[in-house]
Amino acid sequence: TQWVYSFGAGHNEGKAEMRNLLGGKGANLAEMASIGLPVPPGFTITTEVCTYYYDHGKRYPEELEAQVATALARVEKAVGNRFGDHRKPLLVSVRSGARVSMPGMMDTVLNLGLNDQTVDGLAAASGDARFAWDSYRRFIQMFGSVVLGVDHHRFEEIIEHVKLDRGITEDTELTAQDWHRVVDGYKEMVAEVTGKPFPQDPNAQLWAAIGAVFGSWMNARANTYRRLHDIPADWGTAVNVQAMVFGNMGEDCATGVCFTRDPSTGENIFYGEYLINAQGEDVVAGIRTPQPMAQLKAKPGERSMEIAMPNAYRELVEVRAKLEKHYTDMQDIEFTVQQNKLYMLQTRNGKRTAAASLKIAVDMAQEGLISQTEAVKRVNPAALDQLLHPTLDPKAPRKLLSKGLPASPGAACGTVVFSADEAEARAAKGESVILVRIETSPEDIHGMHAAKGILTTRGGMTSHAAVVARGMGRPCVAGAGGVTVDYHGQILMAGGQQVRGGETITLDGATGEIFIGSVPMVEPQLSGDFSTLMGWADAVRRLKVRANAETPLDADTARKFGAEGIGLCRTEHMFFDPARIGAVRQMIMSETERGRREALAKLLPFQRQDFADLFRIMAGLPVTIRLLDPPLHEFLPHSEAEIAELAESLGTDVTTMQRRAADLAEANPMLGHRGCRLGISYPEIYEMQARAIFEAAVLTAKEAGKAPVPEIMIPLVATRRELEITRAQIDKVAQEVFAESGYHVEYDVGTMIELPRAALTADRIAEVGDFFSFGTNDLTQTTFGLSRDDAGKFLPLYVEKGIMPKDPFVSIDVDGVGALVRIAVEKGRSVKPNLKLGICGEHGGDPASIQFCEEAGLDYVSCSPYRVPVARLAAAQAAL
Ligand code: ADP
Ligand code: MG
Ligand code: MG
Repeated sequence: TQWVYSFGAGHNEGKAEMRNLLGGKGANLAEMASIGLPVPPGFTITTEVCTYYYDHGKRYPEELEAQVATALARVEKAVGNRFGDHRKPLLVSVRSGARVSMPGMMDTVLNLGLNDQTVDGLAAASGDARFAWDSYRRFIQMFGSVVLGVDHHRFEEIIEHVKLDRGITEDTELTAQDWHRVVDGYKEMVAEVTGKPFPQDPNAQLWAAIGAVFGSWMNARANTYRRLHDIPADWGTAVNVQAMVFGNMGEDCATGVCFTRDPSTGENIFYGEYLINAQGEDVVAGIRTPQPMAQLKAKPGERSMEIAMPNAYRELVEVRAKLEKHYTDMQDIEFTVQQNKLYMLQTRNGKRTAAASLKIAVDMAQEGLISQTEAVKRVNPAALDQLLHPTLDPKAPRKLLSKGLPASPGAACGTVVFSADEAEARAAKGESVILVRIETSPEDIHGMHAAKGILTTRGGMTSHAAVVARGMGRPCVAGAGGVTVDYHGQILMAGGQQVRGGETITLDGATGEIFIGSVPMVEPQLSGDFSTLMGWADAVRRLKVRANAETPLDADTARKFGAEGIGLCRTEHMFFDPARIGAVRQMIMSETERGRREALAKLLPFQRQDFADLFRIMAGLPVTIRLLDPPLHEFLPHSEAEIAELAESLGTDVTTMQRRAADLAEANPMLGHRGCRLGISYPEIYEMQARAIFEAAVLTAKEAGKAPVPEIMIPLVATRRELEITRAQIDKVAQEVFAESGYHVEYDVGTMIELPRAALTADRIAEVGDFFSFGTNDLTQTTFGLSRDDAGKFLPLYVEKGIMPKDPFVSIDVDGVGALVRIAVEKGRSVKPNLKLGICGEHGGDPASIQFCEEAGLDYVSCSPYRVPVARLAAAQAAL
């Protein structure tokens, strides 16, 4: 078996497609090398070795040692240095690399191969003793903390001690002798802590580092991360061993981390950070402030790589074009410049914000790098959601506290908390919180998730907080150096102002600004790219997208977002208005039909107005109106004072009131007197609603010439007869209104399919209905026998234990509820091939459920107005 794959120096055994075997890092190093990019030579020990290692009591396959030796010899030959050679030593890095990038894995060890002899060789070969001793101490420090598990503070103490002794404050002032002293101190300390001298044999160092990478695959942090992200343990990690190049050999050396486009905005400009005369992790460590890549991105006082190292920069710009063309996606790259020569150390598809993912997809299609269809596939519909959220009102007054880096866009407002646990606890109680940390680490993920926004005082655009926040879509201001955080005192301070824990701040993740108090927000501006992508999506989708809306405001928003009609107008929402609730209660309390009709007559003009408004906004588009659905007692007052007030306004006494309320009370209202059952027991209710609909339809049809398309929907139908009876009432009212007005409007009468019986007898129901709309909220409740309002007590546990793969109220249960939908579709269409079919539950805005709707052959989905764009894109992806 081949356990080791070489890359670089013209011998590439791997490629990008081999990510499962070589891990993402190894596969892409080989790919970059094979398209002619400058990659220091090295080799990848496969993920299969990791699996073997754990399957065989932590032993390696027999052939491994020889294969590593052969691959190492090839690297030695390519570089011209030998591992452990006293005069010209080869140094390597040992890097972990799973299929997907995984925090929790072992950190990289650089400069491996240095020891008391080779350090002199490095000094002589480079002509720079300071560089050699600095490299050696870095190696002991990394190897010591990462492989030997020595607390990193122990190393810092020793450096501090030497600096203090020499009266120096900056690392840069330390000489070769000083670093030599640091190395001596390190070795002594490591020997003391581990009980063994620091390993001097380069081969022993190498195998210890390899073992540490494999060992880290099963450490607690990695296990937690895998569990949270559904990554199987048997994927394993690969180990990459690569010849070192040095970004810390002088002023013509540098190291950097960057993106081929701006990962926040998507702007087509080189974006990232580099440091002159630095090695590896220095850029993210935040000891020195990294500088920008492109001059366009440089602020006063900053020195861009474009200006400081024009030749290497130009080379990097070419690499950027080549990489994007090759991978046809934005790349996140790591590089090092050694004496003006560029080396590529990593590439992968870059993480980006929702805004950036939209812009990059549209730009790349327009640049011809990808097709329009590919652009539609690239944008995650759920991420699109983020773009539709508010930003700070530019005109609102505000009080600036300080400024940091604009690490993840969007605005957030909430109370200040200083720990992830507190963020989680408070958010669970419904509070909006801003998590404030000096910096974040993987242990803070739960708090970052719970928070509305994240503020850190340390770290750059590629810091943990920034990367994670962008991925989660949380607004984030990072590296706000002007802010001091005192965890103990629960206070943050900046420029003489202070904010305590529990007080409110507002973050603008797009500008990096931090404000005291809450700043009003405004609706998002939907950019040109947004509508361009939506246009491409609309061109390929089959499913229509409607909105659930009953107010003019919601209907307007829905139209703005491209809804093609209303799929669900819940008329009972129109009953709660203070001007109407009195008449509603009067209707409910009446014990006679006459009393009810009197009260309903008062409601008629209101309802007519409501529907006329919706018809005008939805000019010419279908509007599905569901007649009264909830049990009546939901409209009754609950407090004694309210009941007394109602009794008085209705001219009765409190006792009568209470008796009537008691009559209406039900043990299980969800399965009680509601839906069409009400319409059948009190026909006057549906008659009034139907009259309001038809009168409004006639009214608006007359004024606009563009007739509305009312679709009257009867809820909670279980039998054909129920629909037949209610439909007859509605048809009768229609004839009356058309006769009175001398005007005719087309309309449909259909039903919700939200009970299993309705689904199973859909052929009979379809005979008397013009359309079905799957009410998957109730259908899920009735299929599972599960009350949505009570599910919170155990459903999360079910999902956690995998008893249910997902919350069935969020994503449709394809096997059960979906089967009922399919049966109803098939039976319904068997009697009426043109039966209109839609879905109006919460699922109508969920991408996975939309995929199901596409497969089931529905005509449209209907969702809340803000989710309309998400649904349009998801519907397009479902059709592709
Ligand atoms: P991570 O997965 O945490 O990014 P990497 O394995 O990419 O870890 O290593 C981190 C950094 O170490 C790289 O970005 C690079 O700067 C540096 N590095 C790794 N290997 C080498 C090498 N062979 N020569 C020079 N620097 C290296
Ligand atoms: Mg790292
Ligand atoms: Mg890396």
